[in-house]
Amino acid sequence: MPSESYEIVPSFINGEWLSIKKDRCTNVYNPAKGEIISKTPMCGNKELNKAVEAAEKAFVSWSSLPSNNRAQILFNYRSLLKDNLEEIAKIISTENGKTLAEAKGDIQRGFEVVEFACGISQLSKGESLAEVAPNIDATTIREPLGICAGISPFNFPAMVPMWMFPLAIACGNTFILKPSEKVPLTAVKLVKLFEKAGLPKGVLNLIHGGKEIVDGLCTHPKISAISFVGSSIVGHHVYSLASRNGKRVQAGGAAKNALLVMGDAEPDSTLRAIMSSSFGCAGQRCMAGSLLVGVGDVKESLKEKVSGAIDKLIVGDPIKNEKTEMGPVIDSNSQERISKIIEKVEKNGASLINDGRKLIDNQGYFIGPTLFDNVNPDMTVFSEEIFGPVLSILNPKNLTEAIQWLNKLNYGNGATIFTTSGASAKEFRASIKCGMVGINVGVPAPMAMFPFSGWNESFYGDLHMQGSEGVMFYTRQKVILSRWDNSYKDKQGW
Ligand code: NAD
Repeated sequence: MPSESYEIVPSFINGEWLSIKKDRCTNVYNPAKGEIISKTPMCGNKELNKAVEAAEKAFVSWSSLPSNNRAQILFNYRSLLKDNLEEIAKIISTENGKTLAEAKGDIQRGFEVVEFACGISQLSKGESLAEVAPNIDATTIREPLGICAGISPFNFPAMVPMWMFPLAIACGNTFILKPSEKVPLTAVKLVKLFEKAGLPKGVLNLIHGGKEIVDGLCTHPKISAISFVGSSIVGHHVYSLASRNGKRVQAGGAAKNALLVMGDAEPDSTLRAIMSSSFGCAGQRCMAGSLLVGVGDVKESLKEKVSGAIDKLIVGDPIKNEKTEMGPVIDSNSQERISKIIEKVEKNGASLINDGRKLIDNQGYFIGPTLFDNVNPDMTVFSEEIFGPVLSILNPKNLTEAIQWLNKLNYGNGATIFTTSGASAKEFRASIKCGMVGINVGVPAPMAMFPFSGWNESFYGDLHMQGSEGVMFYTRQKVILSRWDNSYKDKQGW
C-alpha cells in the first residue's frame, strides 16, 4: 500500500486535532501481524512552539482554578476511562502486541494515578506552625511550576503517560505529551477522553515525533519540567540536556531485575510469579524478571519446572486468540536484536534450555520464551537489559553470595525474593541495592500512592514519579512568614 494510504496519527494542540503532514513519518505496526496500521509524523520546532504558546496561555486560568474544580474534571476523566476500558485495551493490544488482560492491567495502573490525582486538594496541602517566633506564624503553600512535558516509551502505552499528565495537570500545570512514536494511538485515545471530560483547551497538548521534539522540549526556555521514561541511554541524555537548561527532571531508565528463589519458597505460587514476571508483556517491562537466582540445591528442580511451564505457554496473536498468554515483541528490530543476544549468550558458554527463536519464521514479530542455565555474573547477559522474553538461571551457594552478585548490577529498579523465612526476607530487604523490592511478589509493580523508586542507572533525578514525590515534583513550595503583632490592633496606618 502506498504510504499516503495510511492515516496520519493526529496531534492535539490548543484544543484542536491536527493531521500534520510531514516528509518524515514512522510506521506504526500491529506487531502480531507485522502490518503497518498508521503513520506517526515526526513533528518539529514549529509544532512545538505552537504547543508551548497554547500551554502558556492556558496556564493563566488553569493554575488559578481552585483545586477542587480541577479535581472535578479528573473525576469525569476517571468515569470515561472506566467506560472505555475495552476499547483502549484493544488499541493497546493492536499497536503494542500485549494480551488484552495485560492491556487492561496497563490501563488499570494509569487509572489508579487518575484516582490518586482526584485527591489533589488533600495531597497539595501545605504545613503551618503558629508562633515560630514571637507573633510570627509560618505557612507553606505548593504552587504549580508552569508548562511540564512528558516523554514516554513504547512498552506501557497507557500507564507511563498516565504517571505524568494527570498528576501534573491536577497540580495546576499545563502539559505537553510526546508519546513513543511506536504506540501513538493509545495516547490519542487517552487525550480525547480527557478533552471529553471537560479539560479547557491548551491544558493538555499532544505532539508526535522523535529526537527533534525531545531535544526541543529539553531546551525550550518556557518549559519548566520534564518527565521521561525509556532506556537509560536516552534518559541520561534527557536528564543532562534538560537540567543544563534549568529544568526540573525525573528520568526513569532501563533495568535488570532478579527473581531470587530460596529452597523454602512455596513452589506453585513462586512458579506462577516467575512465569508472569519474566514472560508477561513478552519480557518488555522495566520490572520484568530477567535473572532467575536459584539458591543452592533448589536450582535443578526450579530449572525443570520453569522449562516445563515454558513449553506450555500459549504464544500468539492476542486479538485473534483470547487464550494467548504471550504476544509478540514490538518490531522487527527488537526481534532481530533479541535473537542475536540469544546466539551470543549461547556462544559465551551458557546452556540454552528453551529456544524462543523457533517462532521467528511465523508472521509477526514473535520470539518465544527462552531459558538459559549456567549463567554467571562475569557474563554480559548478567548485566545487560534484554527487554525480551529471555530468562537466565544463576546458582549461588547461599543468600549472602546471591546478594553480593546482584549488588554488582549497575541498574537498580527491582529485585524479588521468594521464601517462607522471615529472616531471609529481612536480610534481603536490608541488603539489596535497588529501589523496588518484592517479597513473594514477582513484579513489585508501581502503585499510584507510592513513588516508583528506581535507583542507580535506572533513574536520573531526585523526585520519582507518582505518590507524594510526584506531587512534590510537579509543584514548588513557598514558605510564608507573617507577623501579626498585638500592637497593630488599634493602629490607623501611615
Ligand atoms: P527509548 O529510550 O528508545 O524511547 C523512549 C522515548 O525517547 C521515546 O518517546 C522516543 O521517541 C525517545 N527517544 C528515543 N531515542 C531518542 C534519542 N536519541 N534522543 C531523544 N529522544 C529519543 O525507550 P523504548 O524502547 O521506547 O522503551 C524501552 C525502555 O524503557 C527500556 O529500557 C525499559 O527498561 C525502559 N522503561 C523504563 C521504565 C521505568 O520506569 N524505569 C518503565 C518503562 C520502560
